[in-house]
Amino acid sequence: MIKSSLDNKTYDIIVCGAGSAGVAAACSAAKAGARTLLLERHGYGGGILTAAMIHTFDAIKSCADNSVDIVAGFARELVAEIHALGGDATRDNPPEVVCVHPEMHKIAIDRLLARAGVDVLYHACVCDVLSDAGTAVTANAAANTATANNRITGVEAALRDGRARFHAPVIIDGTGDAELALHAGAPFDIAPDIQALTCHFRLGNVAPGHDWSEWETITRRALKEAHDAGEIKVYGGPWIIRLADGEISVNATRVFGNPTDPSALSRAEQEGRAHMLQIWNILRRRAPALKDSYILSGSSQLHIRESRIIRGEYVLTEEDIRACKRFDDSIAVGAWPVDIHPVTGFSGVHPHKENPFAPYEIPYRCLVPLAVDGLLVAGKPISTTHRAHGSTRVPGTSLATGQAAGVAATLCARDGTPPRALDAKKLRAALLNQNAIVSAA
Ligand SMILES: Cc1cc2nc3c(=O)[nH]c(=O)nc-3n(C[C@H](O)[C@H](O)[C@H](O)COP(=O)(O)OP(=O)(O)OC[C@H]3O[C@@H](n4cnc5c(N)ncnc54)[C@H](O)[C@@H]3O)c2cc1C
Repeated sequence: MIKSSLDNKTYDIIVCGAGSAGVAAACSAAKAGARTLLLERHGYGGGILTAAMIHTFDAIKSCADNSVDIVAGFARELVAEIHALGGDATRDNPPEVVCVHPEMHKIAIDRLLARAGVDVLYHACVCDVLSDAGTAVTANAAANTATANNRITGVEAALRDGRARFHAPVIIDGTGDAELALHAGAPFDIAPDIQALTCHFRLGNVAPGHDWSEWETITRRALKEAHDAGEIKVYGGPWIIRLADGEISVNATRVFGNPTDPSALSRAEQEGRAHMLQIWNILRRRAPALKDSYILSGSSQLHIRESRIIRGEYVLTEEDIRACKRFDDSIAVGAWPVDIHPVTGFSGVHPHKENPFAPYEIPYRCLVPLAVDGLLVAGKPISTTHRAHGSTRVPGTSLATGQAAGVAATLCARDGTPPRALDAKKLRAALLNQNAIVSAA
């Protein structure tokens, strides 16, 4: 095995994955005083949002009342930084989301990471965790049946010049897929009815003069007609974001498969691109406003709504969020509806936004995996049921759980406390100090 020139470094906190959760975790940990390393397999931050050219942050605003922010702290700094770069894309897009330009999103992340003093390694694919002895602890991973506590003390990553081991007392899994939890042998679930996968795409040279809701009407009509005529079996939405006159982003493709199965995901990538082509051909044939359009870009990778969900010290349920249950260790607030993209062959807009519910609380225990010490999980795979995940999976909530994980990890590293034993009162106070919202009003 070839060793990287960066092999064997030690930090206070290591964050794996630079999506919404990972970036929030890394910046918040560094701002709280931790020497922090962020490892990301792509060459930029932002995760799914930037990789798929998605323009919206769901769940920064309350769906029930768009004038109320339910996530602040790092999320607010990120949005302000994007706006300062000229990346506000809200204009005439849906009022319940914060809409930004993805390229400005990437640059804003670079700037915030640099300002916070985070060591960043892009093109760094984390492929294992280290145990106390400095060796890999993959023993339980395949069986997913860990019962004894493993303590992880570092990670191993494939870098551009070879393999490197990095050590820290607390590691944060921000991979969106609970990849570290997998390697560490923490228990997780994969729902049998896992949500549909999507290849987003952008169309250029669309007819000028339509706002986003008119584009949704136009594209929905065209695809429904094609579906009724038997030209297409399945599609979602479409949901449209309008970046400028002449350009729209389309969320409509739908493919199925378990994204943690390497062969199934590879097949799905090919099907996703084929579906994009099929939908574009239908749109330009059936919608006059799109007849001269062309595909500006498709997602650089298929987008995964759901994969592994960890089993943590608390499992948040749909009943908890609908009842707005209060928790003494609440560290973040969510409010997105239970938004589960169906796998049944249903086409069009699945019902989800009809009855927006009030903001709800997320306990710290959802970030603490069972059976493994030294690890916190933030973002999509936090400990919930499949139904509750339909609400917590979105980026506003991922930014909030990421910030909570970053601050929690810093307190644990500083005081030598295992994440499972952290005093939630201390954590909530430290989060309030970073302007985060920790309780539903
Ligand atoms: C198809 C689709 C459409 C969506 N549309 C919208 C939308 O319109 N609006 C909206 O608000 N939300 C949308 N979402 C939801 C949103 O994008 C995600 O839920 C949110 O970004 C989750 O953030 P995250 O940080 O947990 O994960 P991610 O954004 O997935 O970030 C994970 C990061 O970890 C990195 N990583 C993974 N494994 C490794 C590894 N081994 N080593 C190093 N790095 C690794 C990845 O490269 C990635 O950068 C959509 C999601 C999907 C799938």
